[in-house]
Amino acid sequence: MEVVIVGAGIGGLTLALSLHQAGVACRVFEAAPSIKPLGVGINLLPHAMRELGDLGLESAIAARGIETKEVCFYNRFGQHIFTEPRGRFAQYDWPQYSIHRGDLQAALVEAVVERLGLDALVTGYRFIGADQDGSGVVARFQDPRSGKVLPSVQGDVLVGCDGIRSVLRAQLHPGDDPLIYSGITMWRGMTRWPPFLSGASMAYAGWLATGKVIVYPVRDAIDAEGRQLVNWLCEFNTPPRDPSGDWSRPGELNDFLWACQDMHFDWLDIPAFVKAADFILEYPMVDKDPLERWSFERMTLLGDAAHPMYPRGSNGAGQAILDARTLAGHLARQGNPVAALSAYENDRREATSAVVQANRRIPPDAILREVYERTGDRPFSNIDEVISQAELQTLSERYKQIAGFQREALRDRSDLV
Ligand SMILES: Cc1cc2nc3c(=O)[nH]c(=O)nc-3n(C[C@H](O)[C@H](O)[C@H](O)COP(=O)(O)OP(=O)(O)OC[C@H]3O[C@@H](n4cnc5c(N)ncnc54)[C@H](O)[C@@H]3O)c2cc1C
Repeated sequence: MEVVIVGAGIGGLTLALSLHQAGVACRVFEAAPSIKPLGVGINLLPHAMRELGDLGLESAIAARGIETKEVCFYNRFGQHIFTEPRGRFAQYDWPQYSIHRGDLQAALVEAVVERLGLDALVTGYRFIGADQDGSGVVARFQDPRSGKVLPSVQGDVLVGCDGIRSVLRAQLHPGDDPLIYSGITMWRGMTRWPPFLSGASMAYAGWLATGKVIVYPVRDAIDAEGRQLVNWLCEFNTPPRDPSGDWSRPGELNDFLWACQDMHFDWLDIPAFVKAADFILEYPMVDKDPLERWSFERMTLLGDAAHPMYPRGSNGAGQAILDARTLAGHLARQGNPVAALSAYENDRREATSAVVQANRRIPPDAILREVYERTGDRPFSNIDEVISQAELQTLSERYKQIAGFQREALRDRSDLV
């Protein structure tokens, strides 16, 4: 069997490595002429790290990223609400990592080239459409720079891992399929800064009505002064500005500084920190309504192409990794590709739709919303009078259960490949 993979993002590359591990041939076709370290930070939760570990990639991730120790929540006045250990620090069998998206993609590319060979990853190939019949698929491509038509590629199965503006999704679901704006815009960036809190903490502060900030380091000791590369984002409710879903759109400090200008915390001076950023990007929080169907005989969708979700809860990359592992497992076990694609959809479509919906309604940081509402956005004198530790724990566990990374459930489930 030969699988044609469209898109060398996190999902496409993980699928290639998983198919190779399972003994199924594949090639990846990527529109970009070369793979550049784009994006900012990504979190790899224990469910994703289990899969990357099974691919023998934990040390490559550990060499590039930071093993997350804890997640800490504060209100906008800097008052501590809740801290929860993460990954192995919370007795999971697998760690949690924070990493630059470019570093994660580079680790995957390196492994693909090493294990599958240089020919397995073809860049400068923009997918434009595909045909299929009972015996196989034919994928059509063009050169993204010249627009010239490139030779078509044949295979037994075609998987669209081509991200939030997927061409295969548009072909399989012609008609209205808009990006839906959440009402929240995020400004994101990277700053070189000395370690704060534990040096491996992810911290949330504030809430969306007045401005919320998330910060976490993604690379350790990047210079002689021991500074880290720290990912940050500042987000708040605002009418749509540019809801196109362009991950690389530059942002402006003055468009969001007001929302964090009073956050001078004893562990981090947020205004000084964001002003020192290497670059700033602006991104609208957008998703799409879950699809009724992903698989059409020999073609299917994976990752953001199948289920674009709000980039909150550290799940965009994680769910793409789980999709890839599940699909590779079915393709390896089933001789019939059509049955394998259908079994993959059965396992993953409803599960990921639940994460899309959870990210809309009960986000992972619902703790901050709860405290914001209960205090009327005023400082508290004692957090226990606002919300109990048990309630905080319940809010946190609810999201883990939906996203599939509750400790016991993860430990008990069998291997995907
Ligand atoms: C440039 C960029 C920056 C990002 N930055 C962040 C970030 O900072 N934080 C975050 O949480 N998430 C970010 N994401 C999204 C994140 O990578 C995904 O949500 C998640 O990892 C799921 O991965 P995916 O493989 O489904 O999609 P993606 O990682 O988006 O990968 C899709 C891949 O398909 C390629 N592609 C698209 N169209 C075609 C086509 N027609 N033919 C061939 N190839 C095509 C793209 O170039 C890309 O390499 C970014 C995505 C991109 C593309």
